[in-house]
Amino acid sequence: MGKKNSYEKVNKPVKKQTKTEESNVLKNTIIFFTRAAEILKLEDEWQSLLTSCNRSLQVDFPVKMDDGSIKIFVGYRVQHNNARGPFKGGIRYHPDVSLDEIKALSMLMTWKCAVVNIPFGGAKGGVICDPKKMSISEIERLTRRFTSEIMPVIGPDYDIPAPDINTNEQIMSWIMDTYSVCAGKRVMGIVTGKPVSIGGSLGRREATARGCVYVVMKAAEKLHLHLEDARIVVQGFGNVGFNLADIMHRWGARIIGISELEGGIYNKNGLSPRAVLEHKRETGSILGYSGSETITNEKLLTLKCDVLVPAAIEGTITKEIAENVQAKIIAEAANGPTTPEADEILRQRGLFIIPDILANAGGVTVSYFEWVQDSQSFFWTEEQVNETLENIMKSSFESVFTTAQKQDIDMRTSAYVIAVDKVADATRKLGLFP
Ligand code: NAD
Repeated sequence: MGKKNSYEKVNKPVKKQTKTEESNVLKNTIIFFTRAAEILKLEDEWQSLLTSCNRSLQVDFPVKMDDGSIKIFVGYRVQHNNARGPFKGGIRYHPDVSLDEIKALSMLMTWKCAVVNIPFGGAKGGVICDPKKMSISEIERLTRRFTSEIMPVIGPDYDIPAPDINTNEQIMSWIMDTYSVCAGKRVMGIVTGKPVSIGGSLGRREATARGCVYVVMKAAEKLHLHLEDARIVVQGFGNVGFNLADIMHRWGARIIGISELEGGIYNKNGLSPRAVLEHKRETGSILGYSGSETITNEKLLTLKCDVLVPAAIEGTITKEIAENVQAKIIAEAANGPTTPEADEILRQRGLFIIPDILANAGGVTVSYFEWVQDSQSFFWTEEQVNETLENIMKSSFESVFTTAQKQDIDMRTSAYVIAVDKVADATRKLGLFP
């Protein structure tokens, strides 16, 4: 390590010991799919087809580090299904990225786009790295090289990346610039979630959170719960978690708990998300925020509250946690936060779950608006974006809720039934080549 100009295989794609069998996100995604496929009476061969990923690309690529050494990073781009439109999905930078995780997340994207009826298929990308231990220029070089490595399989009409965990507007700008330089022209539609000044959409930054808030409003309406003064707990204080807490706080809800990887903070009278963010900027952590009590992530997830929003990473709501959750509504802003074992317990306990493929679909919905605006070079106002998003999220919630009631199934199975049916229908209509 640290030897100048020596190649080092620092990021081997090994299965991390920290991930338990229960939180195997690929297996879990297929369990949820199968439940719906059986209701739809989908033939075994079609189940196999729809749980296979069309293309999985792994790239091992070198990046020059600031100290002059060269490290080899491993990245993936997985494309699940494009029967309903171009592949679409975020890129994640995280030490725990694995091929299975990216496959699962690409499937979730296919189902998510179908639930909200956005004409995209599902894809996902990721690089095994810890951006918190890298400088900005190392992250830029990693991003540009990764983009050039996956360039043969992405394109504005074919596969369009977006931000996910540890990637943001700046990283999208570097992807767009790298792709454009190689194409010899500006290609705005190659990524979404980029800055407004270079073709991004107004409202995209908060879209995932805002979309989640709209479906929480619908769920609260069904449960006759008043969101003003409701107690909200948010796990994860990144793009999605912060914006969701901020929007709900400004509406008068009480954000009583917030957590990040290192732990959480609690105040029964409510926390100010913007002040917590300011504290994090000053100290590097949300912990120690004045007037708050420090708690563990496990404790945070089991706090007595009205709405619990997991907005961090997969597999955080396990069966042990599920037995002790004290929320009325769980809104899955994160992808795959609930394991099937936990899901079973939560269902038996009668908690209202807004499943990930519906709850966090606001991000891809506004990404779709961004892509449409880019293709026409004609840009919408923020009001237009938010209003159209609200209509889509609320009507999608209503159809998932109605299907659940009619077929006497839970909200997650209902969302999968709607999505799998649409994707299977499109795939069948296109037929198989040759
Ligand atoms: P982010 O990188 O901005 O934030 C992630 C947050 O989660 C950070 O605050 C981090 O400290 C926290 N975290 C990570 N591991 C944790 C753990 N084990 N316990 C508690 N906190 C932990 O990422 P983001 O874009 O906000 O994404 C969050 C989730 O939302 C992910 O599951 C992502 O796939 C999903 N999502 C994001 C978008 C989007 O538009 N960004 C869209 C759809 C879904």
